[in-house]
Amino acid sequence: MPYINENFIKIPAAYLFSEITRRVSQYASENPGVDIIRMGIGDVTLPLPDVCVDAMIKAADEQREVETFRGYGPEQGYDFLRKAIVENDFASLGIEPDEIFVSDGAKSDTGNIGDIFSGDNKVAITDPSYPVYVDTNAMGGRAGEFVNGCWTDLVYLTCNESSQFIPELPAEKVDIVYLCYPNNPTGTTLTKDQLAAWVNYALENRAIILFDAAYEAFITEKDVPHSIYEIAGAKEVAIEFRSYSKTAGFTGTRCGYTVVPKSVRASSENGGRVSLNKLWLRRQTTKFNGVSYVVQRAAEATYSPEGRKQVDELIRYYMENARVIREALQAIGLSVVGGVNAPYVWAKTPDGMSSWDYFDFLLKKKHIVCTPGVGFGASGEGFVRFSSFGDKDRIAEAVRRMVR
Ligand SMILES: *Cc1c(COP(=O)(O)O)cnc(C)c1O
Repeated sequence: MPYINENFIKIPAAYLFSEITRRVSQYASENPGVDIIRMGIGDVTLPLPDVCVDAMIKAADEQREVETFRGYGPEQGYDFLRKAIVENDFASLGIEPDEIFVSDGAKSDTGNIGDIFSGDNKVAITDPSYPVYVDTNAMGGRAGEFVNGCWTDLVYLTCNESSQFIPELPAEKVDIVYLCYPNNPTGTTLTKDQLAAWVNYALENRAIILFDAAYEAFITEKDVPHSIYEIAGAKEVAIEFRSYSKTAGFTGTRCGYTVVPKSVRASSENGGRVSLNKLWLRRQTTKFNGVSYVVQRAAEATYSPEGRKQVDELIRYYMENARVIREALQAIGLSVVGGVNAPYVWAKTPDGMSSWDYFDFLLKKKHIVCTPGVGFGASGEGFVRFSSFGDKDRIAEAVRRMVR
Protein backbone atom coordinates (compact mmCIF):
# COMPACT_ATOMS: atom_id res chain seq x y z
CA MET A 1 0.00 0.00 0.00
CA PRO A 2 1.47 3.39 -0.93
CA TYR A 3 1.81 5.91 1.87
CA ILE A 4 2.05 9.65 1.40
CA ASN A 5 4.65 12.07 2.71
CA GLU A 6 2.77 12.97 5.91
CA ASN A 7 4.54 16.30 6.07
CA PHE A 8 2.33 17.55 3.25
CA ILE A 9 -0.89 17.22 5.23
CA LYS A 10 0.55 18.99 8.26
CA ILE A 11 0.84 22.17 6.16
CA PRO A 12 -2.19 24.46 6.45
CA ALA A 13 -3.92 25.16 3.14
CA ALA A 14 -2.48 28.16 1.27
CA TYR A 15 -5.19 30.39 2.57
CA LEU A 16 -3.97 33.94 2.02
CA PHE A 17 -4.51 34.59 -1.67
CA SER A 18 -7.59 32.38 -1.96
CA GLU A 19 -9.17 34.19 1.00
CA ILE A 20 -8.37 37.58 -0.56
CA THR A 21 -9.97 36.45 -3.82
CA ARG A 22 -13.02 35.13 -1.94
CA ARG A 23 -13.57 38.38 -0.04
CA VAL A 24 -13.03 40.57 -3.09
CA SER A 25 -15.34 38.47 -5.30
CA GLN A 26 -18.05 38.44 -2.65
CA TYR A 27 -17.87 42.20 -2.18
CA ALA A 28 -17.82 42.80 -5.93
CA SER A 29 -20.86 40.58 -6.52
CA GLU A 30 -22.82 42.27 -3.73
CA ASN A 31 -21.83 45.72 -5.00
CA PRO A 32 -21.89 45.53 -8.79
CA GLY A 33 -20.21 48.38 -10.57
CA VAL A 34 -17.77 49.39 -7.82
CA ASP A 35 -14.31 50.14 -9.17
CA ILE A 36 -11.87 48.03 -7.14
CA ILE A 37 -8.15 48.86 -7.27
CA ARG A 38 -5.85 45.94 -6.59
CA MET A 39 -2.70 46.80 -4.67
CA GLY A 40 -2.08 43.34 -3.32
CA ILE A 41 -0.42 41.95 -6.41
CA GLY A 42 2.97 40.29 -6.11
CA ASP A 43 3.23 40.04 -9.88
CA VAL A 44 4.66 42.55 -12.32
CA THR A 45 2.23 44.40 -14.56
CA LEU A 46 4.45 45.95 -17.28
CA PRO A 47 5.33 43.89 -20.36
CA LEU A 48 8.75 42.41 -21.13
CA PRO A 49 11.50 44.76 -22.32
CA ASP A 50 11.72 44.87 -26.14
CA VAL A 51 15.31 43.58 -26.07
CA CYS A 52 14.08 40.38 -24.39
CA VAL A 53 11.26 39.79 -26.86
CA ASP A 54 13.62 40.49 -29.79
CA ALA A 55 16.16 38.04 -28.36
CA MET A 56 13.47 35.38 -27.99
CA ILE A 57 12.27 35.85 -31.58
CA LYS A 58 15.82 35.55 -32.86
CA ALA A 59 16.46 32.48 -30.73
CA ALA A 60 13.17 30.92 -31.83
CA ASP A 61 14.11 31.47 -35.49
CA GLU A 62 17.37 29.61 -34.89
CA GLN A 63 15.26 26.57 -34.03
CA ARG A 64 14.07 26.31 -37.67
CA GLU A 65 17.51 25.40 -39.04
CA VAL A 66 19.42 22.21 -38.46
CA GLU A 67 22.66 24.19 -38.03
CA THR A 68 21.34 26.38 -35.23
CA PHE A 69 18.73 24.14 -33.65
CA ARG A 70 19.32 23.40 -29.93
CA GLY A 71 18.28 20.27 -28.11
CA TYR A 72 19.06 19.61 -24.47
CA GLY A 73 21.32 22.30 -23.11
CA PRO A 74 23.57 22.15 -20.06
CA GLU A 75 21.41 21.70 -16.94
CA GLN A 76 23.25 24.50 -15.17
CA GLY A 77 22.69 26.98 -17.99
CA TYR A 78 24.49 28.00 -21.19
CA ASP A 79 27.97 29.47 -20.84
CA PHE A 80 26.89 32.69 -22.57
CA LEU A 81 24.42 33.43 -19.76
CA ARG A 82 26.57 32.23 -16.86
CA LYS A 83 29.42 34.43 -18.11
CA ALA A 84 27.13 37.43 -18.60
CA ILE A 85 25.83 36.98 -15.04
CA VAL A 86 29.32 36.85 -13.56
CA GLU A 87 30.54 39.86 -15.54
CA ASN A 88 27.50 42.02 -14.89
CA ASP A 89 26.09 41.03 -11.50
CA PHE A 90 29.23 39.88 -9.68
CA ALA A 91 32.02 41.93 -11.23
CA SER A 92 34.90 42.08 -8.72
CA LEU A 93 33.13 39.79 -6.21
CA GLY A 94 35.17 36.77 -7.32
CA ILE A 95 32.23 34.57 -8.33
CA GLU A 96 32.97 32.19 -11.22
CA PRO A 97 30.68 30.89 -13.98
CA ASP A 98 30.71 27.34 -12.57
CA GLU A 99 29.26 28.74 -9.35
CA ILE A 100 26.17 29.97 -11.24
CA PHE A 101 23.20 27.63 -11.73
CA VAL A 102 20.57 28.99 -14.12
CA SER A 103 17.03 27.88 -13.31
CA ASP A 104 13.37 28.52 -13.96
CA GLY A 105 13.20 30.92 -11.04
CA ALA A 106 13.91 31.61 -7.41
CA LYS A 107 10.77 29.93 -6.12
CA SER A 108 11.98 26.56 -7.41
CA ASP A 109 15.50 27.08 -6.15
CA THR A 110 14.64 28.40 -2.68
CA GLY A 111 12.23 25.48 -2.40
CA ASN A 112 14.45 22.76 -3.88
CA ILE A 113 17.65 23.72 -2.06
CA GLY A 114 16.34 21.76 0.93
CA ASP A 115 17.09 18.55 -1.04
CA ILE A 116 20.79 18.86 -0.25
CA PHE A 117 20.33 19.36 3.51
CA SER A 118 19.62 16.80 6.20
CA GLY A 119 16.18 16.73 7.79
CA ASP A 120 17.86 17.25 11.16
CA ASN A 121 19.07 20.79 10.56
CA LYS A 122 17.75 23.56 12.77
CA VAL A 123 16.26 26.20 10.46
CA ALA A 124 15.71 29.88 11.23
CA ILE A 125 13.39 31.99 9.09
CA THR A 126 12.54 35.66 9.37
CA ASP A 127 8.93 36.30 10.33
CA PRO A 128 7.00 37.56 8.38
CA SER A 129 8.39 35.89 5.25
CA TYR A 130 7.85 34.71 1.70
CA PRO A 131 5.84 31.52 2.39
CA VAL A 132 8.02 29.21 0.27
CA TYR A 133 10.78 28.95 2.91
CA VAL A 134 8.46 27.78 5.68
CA ASP A 135 6.31 25.43 3.61
CA THR A 136 9.20 23.70 1.84
CA ASN A 137 10.97 23.09 5.14
CA ALA A 138 7.73 21.61 6.44
CA MET A 139 7.60 19.32 3.38
CA GLY A 140 11.20 18.30 4.03
CA GLY A 141 10.40 17.37 7.63
CA ARG A 142 12.47 20.13 9.20
CA ALA A 143 9.58 22.14 10.68
CA GLY A 144 8.11 19.74 13.24
CA GLU A 145 4.40 20.14 13.99
CA PHE A 146 2.10 23.06 13.22
CA VAL A 147 0.70 24.17 16.59
CA ASN A 148 -1.21 27.43 17.23
CA GLY A 149 -0.05 28.96 13.98
CA CYS A 150 3.66 28.14 14.40
CA TRP A 151 5.95 25.24 13.51
CA THR A 152 7.46 23.69 16.62
CA ASP A 153 10.95 23.08 15.16
CA LEU A 154 11.47 26.33 13.23
CA VAL A 155 13.22 29.29 14.80
CA TYR A 156 11.24 32.43 13.95
CA LEU A 157 13.31 35.60 13.63
CA THR A 158 10.76 38.26 14.51
CA CYS A 159 10.88 41.37 12.36
CA ASN A 160 8.55 44.01 13.75
CA GLU A 161 8.53 47.60 14.90
CA SER A 162 10.33 46.91 18.16
CA SER A 163 13.26 45.30 16.30
CA GLN A 164 13.03 47.99 13.58
CA PHE A 165 12.42 45.08 11.21
CA ILE A 166 16.00 43.87 11.63
CA PRO A 167 16.25 40.18 12.57
CA GLU A 168 18.20 39.56 15.77
CA LEU A 169 20.81 36.81 15.88
CA PRO A 170 19.21 33.72 17.42
CA ALA A 171 20.01 32.89 21.04
CA GLU A 172 20.18 29.18 20.16
CA LYS A 173 22.50 27.66 17.57
CA VAL A 174 20.88 27.21 14.16
CA ASP A 175 22.25 25.47 11.07
CA ILE A 176 20.42 27.20 8.23
CA VAL A 177 19.15 30.78 8.05
CA TYR A 178 16.86 32.22 5.37
CA LEU A 179 17.33 35.92 4.72
CA CYS A 180 15.52 37.86 2.00
CA TYR A 181 16.76 41.40 1.33
CA PRO A 182 15.31 43.66 0.08
CA ASN A 183 12.49 41.93 1.90
CA ASN A 184 9.20 40.61 0.69
CA PRO A 185 6.78 41.44 2.37
CA THR A 186 8.18 44.31 4.48
CA GLY A 187 10.23 46.09 1.81
CA THR A 188 13.00 46.64 4.36
CA THR A 189 16.74 46.12 3.83
CA LEU A 190 19.86 45.43 5.85
CA THR A 191 22.92 47.65 5.76
CA LYS A 192 26.32 46.11 5.06
CA ASP A 193 27.10 46.05 8.78
CA GLN A 194 23.79 44.41 9.65
CA LEU A 195 24.29 41.73 7.01
CA ALA A 196 27.91 41.28 8.12
CA ALA A 197 26.64 40.40 11.60
CA TRP A 198 24.79 37.45 10.04
CA VAL A 199 27.77 36.36 7.95
CA ASN A 200 29.93 36.43 11.08
CA TYR A 201 27.31 34.44 12.98
CA ALA A 202 27.37 31.84 10.19
CA LEU A 203 31.17 31.70 10.14
CA GLU A 204 31.35 31.30 13.92
CA ASN A 205 28.54 28.73 14.15
CA ARG A 206 29.19 26.91 10.86
CA ALA A 207 25.72 27.87 9.68
CA ILE A 208 24.61 28.35 6.08
CA ILE A 209 22.77 31.49 4.95
CA LEU A 210 20.25 31.12 2.14
CA PHE A 211 20.07 34.66 0.80
CA ASP A 212 17.14 35.56 -1.45
CA ALA A 213 18.08 38.64 -3.47
CA ALA A 214 15.10 38.58 -5.86
CA TYR A 215 14.58 42.34 -5.31
CA GLU A 216 18.23 43.39 -5.55
CA ALA A 217 17.58 45.53 -8.64
CA PHE A 218 15.17 47.76 -6.69
CA ILE A 219 17.85 49.04 -4.30
CA THR A 220 18.30 52.81 -4.51
CA GLU A 221 20.29 53.58 -1.35
CA LYS A 222 24.05 53.39 -1.19
CA ASP A 223 24.81 51.39 1.93
CA VAL A 224 22.50 48.51 0.99
CA PRO A 225 24.36 45.44 -0.31
CA HIS A 226 23.13 44.07 -3.64
CA SER A 227 24.79 40.72 -3.05
CA ILE A 228 25.72 38.93 0.15
CA TYR A 229 29.15 38.31 -1.43
CA GLU A 230 29.94 41.99 -0.84
CA ILE A 231 30.42 40.88 2.78
CA ALA A 232 33.83 39.42 3.70
CA GLY A 233 33.59 35.70 4.42
CA ALA A 234 30.20 35.22 2.77
CA LYS A 235 31.69 32.97 0.10
CA GLU A 236 32.31 30.37 2.83
CA VAL A 237 28.76 30.37 4.18
CA ALA A 238 26.18 31.79 1.76
CA ILE A 239 24.08 30.66 -1.19
CA GLU A 240 22.38 33.49 -3.10
CA PHE A 241 19.18 33.34 -5.15
CA ARG A 242 18.42 35.78 -7.96
CA SER A 243 15.55 36.11 -10.38
CA TYR A 244 14.68 37.98 -13.57
CA SER A 245 11.01 37.87 -12.51
CA LYS A 246 10.61 41.18 -10.72
CA THR A 247 13.67 42.81 -12.28
CA ALA A 248 12.83 42.30 -15.93
CA GLY A 249 9.22 41.13 -15.92
CA PHE A 250 10.00 37.40 -16.30
CA THR A 251 7.28 36.14 -13.92
CA GLY A 252 5.62 34.31 -16.81
CA THR A 253 8.76 33.80 -18.92
CA ARG A 254 10.63 32.05 -16.04
CA CYS A 255 14.34 32.49 -15.41
CA GLY A 256 16.52 32.96 -12.39
CA TYR A 257 19.75 31.63 -11.00
CA THR A 258 21.42 30.48 -7.83
CA VAL A 259 25.00 31.15 -6.78
CA VAL A 260 26.68 28.31 -4.91
CA PRO A 261 30.34 29.19 -4.31
CA LYS A 262 32.68 26.19 -4.33
CA SER A 263 33.94 27.21 -0.91
CA VAL A 264 30.55 26.74 0.82
CA ARG A 265 30.66 23.47 2.71
CA ALA A 266 28.51 21.55 5.15
CA SER A 267 29.32 18.54 7.32
CA SER A 268 28.79 14.91 6.42
CA GLU A 269 27.76 12.41 9.10
CA ASN A 270 30.72 10.33 7.96
CA GLY A 271 33.09 13.12 8.78
CA GLY A 272 34.52 15.73 6.48
CA ARG A 273 33.13 18.87 4.93
CA VAL A 274 31.34 18.53 1.61
CA SER A 275 31.12 21.18 -1.11
CA LEU A 276 27.52 22.30 -1.60
CA ASN A 277 28.36 23.33 -5.17
CA LYS A 278 28.98 19.64 -5.96
CA LEU A 279 25.77 18.54 -4.25
CA TRP A 280 23.65 21.17 -5.98
CA LEU A 281 25.22 20.28 -9.33
CA ARG A 282 24.30 16.67 -8.68
CA ARG A 283 20.77 17.63 -7.63
CA GLN A 284 20.17 19.85 -10.65
CA THR A 285 21.68 17.49 -13.24
CA THR A 286 19.52 14.68 -11.83
CA LYS A 287 16.19 16.45 -11.39
CA PHE A 288 16.31 19.42 -13.78
CA ASN A 289 16.96 19.67 -17.51
CA GLY A 290 17.72 23.34 -17.85
CA VAL A 291 15.91 26.50 -18.88
CA SER A 292 14.86 26.82 -22.51
CA TYR A 293 17.52 28.27 -24.83
CA VAL A 294 15.08 30.93 -26.01
CA VAL A 295 14.49 32.17 -22.45
CA GLN A 296 18.19 32.16 -21.60
CA ARG A 297 18.81 34.42 -24.63
CA ALA A 298 16.11 36.75 -23.28
CA ALA A 299 17.83 36.84 -19.89
CA GLU A 300 21.17 37.54 -21.55
CA ALA A 301 19.62 40.48 -23.41
CA THR A 302 18.92 42.29 -20.11
CA TYR A 303 22.69 42.85 -19.80
CA SER A 304 23.18 44.66 -23.13
CA PRO A 305 23.45 48.45 -22.87
CA GLU A 306 19.96 48.83 -24.33
CA GLY A 307 18.67 46.01 -22.11
CA ARG A 308 19.99 47.69 -18.99
CA LYS A 309 18.24 50.90 -19.99
CA GLN A 310 14.93 49.15 -20.55
CA VAL A 311 15.15 47.24 -17.28
CA ASP A 312 16.02 50.43 -15.41
CA GLU A 313 12.92 52.07 -16.86
CA LEU A 314 10.69 49.26 -15.56
CA ILE A 315 12.19 49.54 -12.12
CA ARG A 316 11.95 53.31 -12.06
CA TYR A 317 8.27 53.08 -12.95
CA TYR A 318 7.50 50.72 -10.06
CA MET A 319 9.66 52.64 -7.61
CA GLU A 320 7.86 55.86 -8.47
CA ASN A 321 4.62 54.02 -7.64
CA ALA A 322 6.22 52.89 -4.38
CA ARG A 323 7.11 56.48 -3.48
CA VAL A 324 3.56 57.66 -4.18
CA ILE A 325 2.05 54.88 -2.07
CA ARG A 326 4.50 55.39 0.76
CA GLU A 327 3.91 59.15 0.93
CA ALA A 328 0.13 58.74 0.79
CA LEU A 329 0.14 56.28 3.67
CA GLN A 330 2.37 58.60 5.68
CA ALA A 331 0.05 61.50 4.88
CA ILE A 332 -2.90 59.66 6.40
CA GLY A 333 -0.83 59.04 9.50
CA LEU A 334 0.17 55.41 9.11
CA SER A 335 3.55 54.17 10.21
CA VAL A 336 5.26 52.65 7.15
CA VAL A 337 8.51 50.99 6.11
CA GLY A 338 9.72 49.81 2.72
CA GLY A 339 9.10 51.34 -0.67
CA VAL A 340 12.57 52.88 -0.89
CA ASN A 341 14.67 49.88 -1.95
CA ALA A 342 11.82 47.48 -2.69
CA PRO A 343 8.50 47.52 -4.53
CA TYR A 344 6.53 46.85 -1.34
CA VAL A 345 5.30 49.21 1.34
CA TRP A 346 4.53 47.71 4.75
CA ALA A 347 2.07 49.70 6.82
CA LYS A 348 0.98 49.38 10.41
CA THR A 349 -2.80 49.30 10.65
CA PRO A 350 -4.41 52.24 12.46
CA ASP A 351 -5.88 51.96 15.98
CA GLY A 352 -4.54 48.46 16.55
CA MET A 353 -6.81 46.93 13.92
CA SER A 354 -6.04 43.37 12.83
CA SER A 355 -4.61 42.83 9.35
CA TRP A 356 -7.89 41.36 8.08
CA ASP A 357 -10.06 44.06 9.69
CA TYR A 358 -8.03 46.75 7.96
CA PHE A 359 -8.12 44.76 4.72
CA ASP A 360 -11.95 44.72 4.97
CA PHE A 361 -12.06 48.43 5.80
CA LEU A 362 -9.97 49.31 2.73
CA LEU A 363 -12.01 46.98 0.52
CA LYS A 364 -15.42 48.21 1.67
CA LYS A 365 -14.77 51.90 2.33
CA LYS A 366 -12.06 52.68 -0.25
CA HIS A 367 -12.46 49.83 -2.75
CA ILE A 368 -8.74 49.09 -2.47
CA VAL A 369 -7.25 45.64 -2.12
CA CYS A 370 -4.07 45.19 -0.07
CA THR A 371 -2.46 42.05 1.36
CA PRO A 372 -3.03 41.28 5.07
CA GLY A 373 0.38 41.06 6.75
CA VAL A 374 -0.65 38.15 8.96
CA GLY A 375 -0.73 36.01 5.82
CA PHE A 376 3.09 36.12 5.80
CA GLY A 377 3.48 34.91 9.36
CA ALA A 378 2.35 35.64 12.90
CA SER A 379 4.62 38.69 13.21
CA GLY A 380 2.82 40.24 10.26
CA GLU A 381 -0.37 40.65 12.32
CA GLY A 382 -1.37 44.30 12.55
CA PHE A 383 0.28 45.15 9.22
CA VAL A 384 -0.75 45.20 5.58
CA ARG A 385 1.38 45.13 2.43
CA PHE A 386 0.88 47.43 -0.54
CA SER A 387 2.47 46.44 -3.83
CA SER A 388 3.77 49.01 -6.28
CA PHE A 389 3.31 46.61 -9.20
CA GLY A 390 0.43 48.29 -10.98
CA ASP A 391 -0.65 51.08 -13.25
CA LYS A 392 0.45 54.52 -12.07
CA ASP A 393 -2.89 56.18 -12.86
CA ARG A 394 -4.75 53.52 -10.88
CA ILE A 395 -2.38 53.96 -8.00
CA ALA A 396 -2.91 57.73 -8.16
CA GLU A 397 -6.66 57.10 -7.94
CA ALA A 398 -6.15 54.78 -4.96
CA VAL A 399 -4.11 57.49 -3.26
CA ARG A 400 -6.89 60.07 -3.83
CA ARG A 401 -9.35 57.69 -2.20
CA MET A 402 -7.08 57.03 0.75
CA VAL A 403 -6.41 60.65 1.60
CA ARG A 404 -10.06 61.60 1.08
C1 LIG B 1 8.83 36.90 -6.45
C2 LIG B 1 9.80 36.34 -5.51
C3 LIG B 1 10.75 35.42 -5.95
C4 LIG B 1 10.89 35.10 -7.41
O1 LIG B 1 10.30 33.95 -7.75
P1 LIG B 1 10.47 33.39 -9.23
O2 LIG B 1 10.22 31.94 -9.03
O3 LIG B 1 11.86 33.66 -9.69
O4 LIG B 1 9.44 34.06 -10.08
C5 LIG B 1 11.66 34.92 -5.05
N1 LIG B 1 11.66 35.32 -3.77
C6 LIG B 1 10.79 36.22 -3.33
C7 LIG B 1 10.87 36.67 -1.94
C8 LIG B 1 9.82 36.75 -4.17
O5 LIG B 1 8.95 37.64 -3.72
